[in-house]
Amino acid sequence: MKKTKNYAGFVIDLLFGLLICAAAPPMGAATKKLNVVTSTADMAALAQEVGGDKISVESIAKGYQDPHFVEAKPSFLLKLRQADLLISVGLQLETGWLPPLITQSGNPRIQVGAPGYLDASQFSEILDIPQGTVTRAEGDVHPLGNPHYWLDPDNGRRIARGIANKLADLDPGETAYFQRQFQDFDKRLSAAEQRWDAEMKPYRGLKIITYHRSFPNFAKHFGLEVIGYVEPRPGIPPTPSHTIELIQLIKRENCKAVLVEPYFDLKTPQSIGRESGAQVVVYLPSVGGEKQVTTYFELFDYDIELLIKAFQSSH
Ligand SMILES: [Zn+2]
Repeated sequence: MKKTKNYAGFVIDLLFGLLICAAAPPMGAATKKLNVVTSTADMAALAQEVGGDKISVESIAKGYQDPHFVEAKPSFLLKLRQADLLISVGLQLETGWLPPLITQSGNPRIQVGAPGYLDASQFSEILDIPQGTVTRAEGDVHPLGNPHYWLDPDNGRRIARGIANKLADLDPGETAYFQRQFQDFDKRLSAAEQRWDAEMKPYRGLKIITYHRSFPNFAKHFGLEVIGYVEPRPGIPPTPSHTIELIQLIKRENCKAVLVEPYFDLKTPQSIGRESGAQVVVYLPSVGGEKQVTTYFELFDYDIELLIKAFQSSH
């Protein structure tokens, strides 16, 4: 470097420096983002809504997988090791695969009870809470109540608020940002809810069957009645005697549709549909169940359109 610099050279250096400053993000912005890992894609979608560009977020389970049974890949450990926040669905939904990952990650920030661990069930309305004692020995995978609670927009709002508050706790300097993000999400969700409620209004009171008990919160919100399940109990595969009972029930109750999550075998639902006349619908319980469903809003758009089509074509 030259020892002396003329004025023009100095100005050029200065301008160049300014250009670099303008082009590059503010110092440290990339490293300041909170690193969020979620157990399921729905929690990631909600976290993204309120975390905006102040977080990076990734889900362990994909939306097309059964969230009760996820294969624990070693790559998940690396993600958990670097996480500032882990958001789980809770109520033992992930009990078969998440606890060992948390332990093995060795990350003190995200251990259960640590500030970087958030169980979203605490914010939500939980249905199907069992009376008396239920043990997993009976094969029931919902011993603490129904963990598929995110399919009610009211719960989506509550979860998003809970996540926004947690993000503010972890990054207090951005509290106002996370609050604004939540308010914006809340406004968009309320508008969407009005539209969804209006679309579903003509179908209130209709009876449906679902394969797994993934749908009670959606059904409650939109006024559908779930009268039976292809699984005799949550997590227990269909049996011939239960299937025959179900076909009789569908005929007797004039049930319109059998809803199936994308990760179950369609054979039994299809034979139920054939025998009973009910429409068989593969709906999406989660964001990412189909490629085009990338947000919490698109999830409801997709399922509502599907349901309405099925109701319209049933007799
Ligand atoms: Zn379940």
